Amino acid sequence: MITLRIFADCGTRSEKHTVNEGFLPISRQDMEERGIEQLDFVYVVGDAYVDHPSFGHAIISRVLEAHGYRVGIISQPDWKDDSSISILGRPRLAFLVAAGNMDSCVNHYSVSRKRRSMDAYTPGGEMGHRPDHATVVYSNLIRRRYRDVPIIIGGIEASLRRMAHYDYWSDSFKRSILLDSQADLLSYGMGERALVEIADALAGGIAVSDLTYLAGTVYKTKDPSGVYQGILLPSYEEMKADKTLYAKSFQIQYQNTDSCTGKPLIEPYPNQVYVVQNPPQPPLTTEEMDQIYALPYMRAYHPSYEEKGGVPAIAEIKFSLISNRGCFGGCSFCALTFHQGRTIQVRSHESILEEARLLTKDPDFKGYLHDVGGPTANFRHPSCEKQLTKGVCQNRQCLFPSPCPNLKVDHKDYLELLRKLRALPGVKKVFIRSGIRFDYLLADPDDTFFRELVEYHVSGQLKVAPEHISDAVLERMGKPPRAVYERFVAKYRKLNEKLGKNQFLVPYLMSSHPGSALKEAIELAEYLRDLGYMPEQVQDFYPTPSTLSTVMYYTGLDPRDMKPVYVCRNPHEKAMQRALIQYRNPRNYDLVYEALVKEGRTDLIGFDKKCLIRPKKAVQGAGNMQKPSVHGTRLSEKAGRAQKHQASDLTGRKGTHLKQAGGKKRAIRNVHKKKTSS
Ligand code: SF4
Repeated sequence: MITLRIFADCGTRSEKHTVNEGFLPISRQDMEERGIEQLDFVYVVGDAYVDHPSFGHAIISRVLEAHGYRVGIISQPDWKDDSSISILGRPRLAFLVAAGNMDSCVNHYSVSRKRRSMDAYTPGGEMGHRPDHATVVYSNLIRRRYRDVPIIIGGIEASLRRMAHYDYWSDSFKRSILLDSQADLLSYGMGERALVEIADALAGGIAVSDLTYLAGTVYKTKDPSGVYQGILLPSYEEMKADKTLYAKSFQIQYQNTDSCTGKPLIEPYPNQVYVVQNPPQPPLTTEEMDQIYALPYMRAYHPSYEEKGGVPAIAEIKFSLISNRGCFGGCSFCALTFHQGRTIQVRSHESILEEARLLTKDPDFKGYLHDVGGPTANFRHPSCEKQLTKGVCQNRQCLFPSPCPNLKVDHKDYLELLRKLRALPGVKKVFIRSGIRFDYLLADPDDTFFRELVEYHVSGQLKVAPEHISDAVLERMGKPPRAVYERFVAKYRKLNEKLGKNQFLVPYLMSSHPGSALKEAIELAEYLRDLGYMPEQVQDFYPTPSTLSTVMYYTGLDPRDMKPVYVCRNPHEKAMQRALIQYRNPRNYDLVYEALVKEGRTDLIGFDKKCLIRPKKAVQGAGNMQKPSVHGTRLSEKAGRAQKHQASDLTGRKGTHLKQAGGKKRAIRNVHKKKTSS
């Protein structure tokens, strides 16, 4: 392993004379102006070129640049035109290829596999500028044009499809993306250190086919006999024929995501081809993290996008600060363990403060830092000391099913960081929009962080992710039991009362996760009834590549215990589960009615206050199916008004309104109104 050695002039290039200056070359003209005849690397990416450390292509390119390599960017090439890949000429060392910040299929399609109408990573938000499976398409394009230039693939799409995997959009079991793309090497995880090692090796004259020894990479070979301590996984063909074997293979992969304990994994394919995954790169040190975030990013999209109105994604991140990487939360539906690992890596306070000072000088800065976080905002140090030398546990989670006795719960560092940020001149408010892990928060015997979170860092409403309320489903999700969430809600309410605040709690909920049948969806609906509110949005479970939940969805087994799991695949049942969460919405009446009858829960249809909906006759008798046929409307109206006042004051956001019969608007808000406003 080498450590990153970054010598570039850290800081922002603010005094530039031409619009493109400061950005990496995107054209021959840019290269000529910079006196570059040939680039070392050409980075082909499915996103617009945004030179900001929230974008993978910007980070990798700037890191390579800081190590003395010349990098150019081809953003969103026309994949129907081979010449689009050669606009910067043949690179001296390699092409780097990534789909962008998201998997291209997640970017293009909703969970119902319908084409999305907007792409936040494309100028003007226009759809259609990137192909599905972009990594494969771009790499094949390059291979057609340049047969002998090494191709290195990376980014989230390549990282999470690095071994055989289930592809939801084609409903098929796919090979490692390394094979389909015809690339030479795959860099998984965040990739900075691996890319520098690859660059140095190629520059030193080592053939790409000999790069079989680098941590954080995946390569293919005909002869795996030299793989030291390798674990032989079931073959692709075997897994395709028997889903049980895929579930077993995935669990082995899951247990090998730590750099201390991870072993090389060997996946056989027909014709004596083997895909070998080397163990992950060790976590970056704070010094390395600081160096990466101090590189001279322009912190903006390329000026050539201006005429289309820019790149929408920048709005979300422009005034947000990344404080950490990695997550030991271990939610089953999240692939972060596979991508960034479980060990937390942090930037120093000074590095974050320096970036914040820079933001306060931006003419568009209004005094609000929108976020200080990462995958989980309140994880600012490793979950225990042991893992730093021995790795994270392979057979237990840090927080699930209950916090590990070795878990180090401490918010002092984060608290101190937030206090320093609040004290910066020009900063009016510091919000936390990244997820807060509430079970970790509750495990802290010191309430100071929770109190200051409520006092200073909530933007009108705090979003948290219980995801469900049925313990059976929560167990499959790797989330804490319902009782923990209820404790959190009670404490949040108390703190609000104590501080004279009336801030709301927005719970994210997910329907149709493996383990959730209609029975569990009704359980959730009854919880919401007792709470007296209806969520504005519901996330249907989305089987994205390389999550435990996706493996459950595909195989019907939980890889952790190999027990069968109920999986809702039927679109109509999915619609019923979703409708139950929003049972008050008149449009959902028929679906809710059908679900309750099907489950023998007609006791929830009627006029009693425990009922979710009224009988059909009563609704039809009212002569208007759009009229809300629910209980608790009066309470909802009252709380809705109170919340509207509160939320508008603090956030400027407006709620969604349903028009009632008679033209009166009824506010529906996704907040814990009863719990927080009573
Ligand atoms: S000992 Fe506990 S806290 Fe440490 S890695 Fe293992 S499960 Fe996590």
